[in-house]
Amino acid sequence: MEKFISLNNKKIRIKYLILSFLKKLIQFFFPERCVGCGELLKEDTPLFCNNCFLTLKAINPPFCYKCGYPFPGYVKVSHLCGECIKEKRYFDFARSCFSYEGLIREAIQKFKFNGKVFIGLKFADIMFSRTSYFFEKRDWDLIIPVPVHINKLRKREFNQAQVLASKIAFYLGIPYLRYLLIKKINNPSQFSLKREDRIKNVKGVFGIVDSKKIKEKKLLLIDDVMTTGATVNECAKILKRYGAKRVDVFTIARTLK
Ligand SMILES: [Zn+2]
Ligand SMILES: [Zn+2]
Repeated sequence: MEKFISLNNKKIRIKYLILSFLKKLIQFFFPERCVGCGELLKEDTPLFCNNCFLTLKAINPPFCYKCGYPFPGYVKVSHLCGECIKEKRYFDFARSCFSYEGLIREAIQKFKFNGKVFIGLKFADIMFSRTSYFFEKRDWDLIIPVPVHINKLRKREFNQAQVLASKIAFYLGIPYLRYLLIKKINNPSQFSLKREDRIKNVKGVFGIVDSKKIKEKKLLLIDDVMTTGATVNECAKILKRYGAKRVDVFTIARTLK
């Protein structure tokens, strides 16, 4: 990770060095295993061994410059995709690291539903290392996680987006606001719904607690998976309505058709 860190803030740099030392100590006593096959991992290999890593589908350009949806190999330049032409997108740029399938899907589900927070923290490392690759402008003022409803939080005990957002914010050295964007309505999960129903399902479910904090601010919105983009678009809509200047979206993975 060191090579991706350009921390000019001395306090953060010291914090980072202490954390790196603690991490090495933990790795010595509890060596990490590949999330895919269980093989012992070499130091600083994030989550997967080389063999498993090769099975992952990383998302690379050319893709839609708005939502980050990758185009097939014969398209040479990035342009706007059909969905972004058809539908109003309130976010500015959305990017995801991987296609949501195979080992990535399994790892995200272990993180989210089996409480394996360490997987999320490693995903945050991977996401942070890709920020400069995906985002030309990284002058964000705040990082915000996509919220989950309090009832879901009671059941799952943590919000996966918060785990990712807090670590990325720490690396970037910018504030992270956990409870600025909230979920007011406990709507059904998006996964079981069709595209048109997803847009309806998220309408009006989010709220802002303190709009002064986002006025004229450039925000990075974090979530684990982007499917049709209906959820992040609804979040971006309300953030923009309350005065956010720019809303970029970043997720670990995204569903590809
Ligand atoms: Zn493996
Ligand atoms: Zn698009």
